[in-house]
Amino acid sequence: MKRSTIAVRVNLLSSNHEELMELAIRRGFIWPSFEMYGGVRGFYDFGPLGTPLKNKIIQKWREFFVLGEGSLEIDSPTIMPEEVFKASGHLEHFVDLMTECEKCGQAFKVTELVKEKTGMDVEGSPKLELEKIIRQHEIACPECGGKLGSVFEFNTMFRTVIGPGGKRVGYLRPETAQGIFVDFKRLWRQAREMLPFGVAQIGRGYRNEISPRQGMIRLREFTMAELEVFFDPEGPSHPRFSVLGEDTLKLWRAGREKIVDMEVREAVEKGVVCNELMGYYMGLTKRFLIELGIPEENIRFREQTERQRAHYSKETWDAEVRTERFGWIEVAGIAYRTDYDLSRHSKFSKEDLTVFLQSENRRITCHVLEPSFGIDRIFYCVLEHSYKHDGKRKYLSLKRELAPIDVCVFPLMNRDGLPEKAITVHELLRKRKFSVVYDASGSIGRRYARADEIGIPYCITIDHQTLEDHSVTIRDRDTTKQVRSSIEDLPSTLRSLLNGELEFESAGTPLTK
Ligand SMILES: [Zn+2]
Repeated sequence: MKRSTIAVRVNLLSSNHEELMELAIRRGFIWPSFEMYGGVRGFYDFGPLGTPLKNKIIQKWREFFVLGEGSLEIDSPTIMPEEVFKASGHLEHFVDLMTECEKCGQAFKVTELVKEKTGMDVEGSPKLELEKIIRQHEIACPECGGKLGSVFEFNTMFRTVIGPGGKRVGYLRPETAQGIFVDFKRLWRQAREMLPFGVAQIGRGYRNEISPRQGMIRLREFTMAELEVFFDPEGPSHPRFSVLGEDTLKLWRAGREKIVDMEVREAVEKGVVCNELMGYYMGLTKRFLIELGIPEENIRFREQTERQRAHYSKETWDAEVRTERFGWIEVAGIAYRTDYDLSRHSKFSKEDLTVFLQSENRRITCHVLEPSFGIDRIFYCVLEHSYKHDGKRKYLSLKRELAPIDVCVFPLMNRDGLPEKAITVHELLRKRKFSVVYDASGSIGRRYARADEIGIPYCITIDHQTLEDHSVTIRDRDTTKQVRSSIEDLPSTLRSLLNGELEFESAGTPLTK
């Protein structure tokens, strides 16, 4: 490809992203927090449309990783005492390397700065090496061009105090997982003392990022969905492995140049991934992302190098999604945490966290396989991949189940009793638990455009014929095709359409435009 062609393409893409963000803010999906006080980087609000979309993504995760897996789900505090993070290793290891500009005082995360300026991935490199790279590449302050100071460690947990007096130190949790590990003894009993068993937690996590500059891709407060699967290291198998053993994954192994397509089963058998549970949850992760509307070719798995891995992990595969704006971004990490967490909590608390396997007559410390998802990043990927701009029409082709609003009702004209009839249809659907809005302003074309822009799958129009025979038109967002259906059938027809149980053409009598 010629250089000029690349430049043109990049321009088009970045304007697409800008269009999408303009839409997301204007229509109430997301916006930067605390705007009236100048904003604080790394915080986003979910608006009236973003909140239901996010909740539906979470619900889909729950269907896959909690209900589908028979996992237990808990909800523990987001503030935790210091002891937990001493044991978990976060006090010692949850650090980023930073540097400050000697002239303007701005702080920067070194790995990001180096990547931006040189393209090098230096995640996990020691301090001295990074200082050398900064000198060699003459990297200066991106804000003012000033000289950068020495490189030092910054613990990215938010610190707080519990109660008055300031004696009891606490931290906002950097992951939900620790809440599960500290409850292990009770959860083992809840799981009827059988392995493997999974415990999920969905909730806020916090990371005091040094200088987040990538919008909602790098947040200081975020929503995570994590599953800790406890298993016997001598039997790391999954009872439903065969369900997805033949699924193909794009795998980029650590230290390899090439990305290969490989079936899950083959990856396990060849030892490309550490065990069957790892393979299974990578396969399930891919299925989950596809279910949200991420095209298969934009999903890959990248193995972290030893330097990149978190302190608790023996093997980690990141699920990455390709985005136009940010390139490939990590949306989930599947980590083999071994017995690290349970052993450490046992040592620090003096509680015995081993379990006795009756059938095997053995006492073990459970090992843990952890799929961990960043819901906010997934939210962004879902929005970006659903945004369509084909010449004259802009719309969000969100999966119908994910759409924040199910249906929009409008009267063709604001007279002849049509608004009154439309209001009764709106009320009928609202009572039947649809997320439904009523829109009577502007031309019918404008109303369709407004509904398309926020991804409403179906629009119902009330016209003069409705008054005669109680029929309405239903319009499909993606194809703009229309069918005519009776008001009586409308709730069940819409429910079947939204569940994907009914083809649009079969939802009524087709209309030719
Ligand atoms: Zn500076």
